[in-house]
Amino acid sequence: MIEAMRFPQPEERQTYPLDCTVCMGPVIEDVVTLTYPVSRGSTSVRVITGVPGGTCKQCGEIYLLAETAEEIDRILATPPEREDKHPVWSYAHGA
Ligand SMILES: [Zn+2]
Repeated sequence: MIEAMRFPQPEERQTYPLDCTVCMGPVIEDVVTLTYPVSRGSTSVRVITGVPGGTCKQCGEIYLLAETAEEIDRILATPPEREDKHPVWSYAHGA
């Protein structure tokens, strides 16, 4: 499930870019699984599933809207829903 550590930059985005800022590929609306380190420099990760994001079809770069990044901060402050090797949260509005 977790192929690589991915750390979307916390950009102040209100919309997804039309073209990837890394490779200029097309960015599509997607639902993504994000992983964050438990702490700076830690190899353990925290997982959030079902996050709305924009994904570059070409290179896989993930773009998050500012409101989504804020929601993720809020979610990570709550206890995880389950421990599955890693603590896991799912992104859901109004849960
Ligand atoms: Zn790209």
